[in-house]
Amino acid sequence: MLAGLGGTLGAGAVVTLLDDTCPLGETARIAAWPAAESAGQCCQRGEEEAGTRLEVDRSRCTGHGLCAVLAPDLIRLGPHGYPTSTGIPVASWQERGARRAVNQCPALAVRLQHRV
Ligand code: SF4
Repeated sequence: MLAGLGGTLGAGAVVTLLDDTCPLGETARIAAWPAAESAGQCCQRGEEEAGTRLEVDRSRCTGHGLCAVLAPDLIRLGPHGYPTSTGIPVASWQERGARRAVNQCPALAVRLQHRV
């Protein structure tokens, strides 16, 4: 069906809508999902607070758990060994540990974001 319209299936979510589903409401719900899953890299950017944040890219993270050892006051691991949060506010006294996590994450999944 997509090919007939010149479209292709890329990265994203495919959801089958039932006849009694509000398409607009489902579109809004689906648009909010990647925002929550991607450390606020897309549509939440305008609402973020100023300051430094430690962000974990879940699409890169492979669950080594090293970040939680290097920055234990910032990163906690879930039962499967992956960080439980993706956008963590960093106080100035926590920046050293945060930088170690960024520099030593084997998957290059951690980064510091400075927002003004
Ligand atoms: S060190 Fe990197 S790859 Fe390992 S759990 Fe932390 S973020 Fe994920």
